[in-house]
Amino acid sequence: MRRRLRDVGSKISGALAAARYEAAELLADGGEPPTETLQENEPVSVTTDLPAEVAADPLCVAAVDVARAAAVEVAGSAVGDYAGVEVDDALVVTHSFATTEKAYRGWRWAVTVARAEGSDGVTVDEVVLLPGGGALVSPEWVPWSERIRPGDLTPGDLLPTKPDDPRLVPAYADPDAFDDWSDLHWELGLGRVRVLSLDGRADAAERWYDGDQGPSSPLAKSAPARCGDCGFLVPLAGSMRSLFGVCANVYAPDDAKVVSFDHGCGAHSEVVADAASATWTGMAVEHDELELVENVTTPEGHSPGTVDDADPAEPFGHS
Ligand code: SF4
Repeated sequence: MRRRLRDVGSKISGALAAARYEAAELLADGGEPPTETLQENEPVSVTTDLPAEVAADPLCVAAVDVARAAAVEVAGSAVGDYAGVEVDDALVVTHSFATTEKAYRGWRWAVTVARAEGSDGVTVDEVVLLPGGGALVSPEWVPWSERIRPGDLTPGDLLPTKPDDPRLVPAYADPDAFDDWSDLHWELGLGRVRVLSLDGRADAAERWYDGDQGPSSPLAKSAPARCGDCGFLVPLAGSMRSLFGVCANVYAPDDAKVVSFDHGCGAHSEVVADAASATWTGMAVEHDELELVENVTTPEGHSPGTVDDADPAEPFGHS
């Protein structure tokens, strides 16, 4: 489908547009943003094996009780078993304790203690809760520009496009400009700064074609005729005109929406009412009351339930 749409655009816009498209293709990242699910933390090792290059301060390493007291002061009974020590610097180490909080499985209380040079006293630097190996942590942060989805924009929001947005090209490179020379001056500096690139057109065409106004929607599948030959279709300008138009039928479900030529609905302009199969044809008077009588058989039509599956379909979906 995407290839077909690009081919349509290429034929219409010519070699210049194709060259612009190839440049835009190089800029497109094409990747799916990460899904927002909880993840397990990378394994974290807490060890009592001290690095050879930094000598562990024996007083700081021995200050397990000082560290535990500090953790209990912050977390109370949520402080569990001792989990080891890490050397941060010559006179700084971090003691770890498991947490007993059920909601923080795999996390640990990390208590950093330090000693001033020449002093025997060990003091507490900080107490923090850190994720250990296998801990459930929040998803990786994703920039808003990658998180945003169609429909997220609300009144008052601003959504700036990137200077190198592959959906846009400078107006002088408009793929449609050479189709209508009368518009050329307008896009050469007098009108819009940027216009839709061929890549942006292909994306939009693919989205529209695969959406509810394309040929695969339930409405289109049950339609008696297609938009392409409907009198209510208003054609688009530019390269999109070969595949899409706007429905202008107030009674159609897709009124004011872009529809593909092979979309359709029951309000097609050429759908005809079959007079022979009209439902209500007469009235009978009975005791001064009016009663509507349904004409269930007609000379040209069928009695209810008498249509055979093998019978050929009549024009515009009537059977
Ligand atoms: S009325 Fe129906 S068939 Fe006609 S253009 Fe609109 S959606 Fe298409």
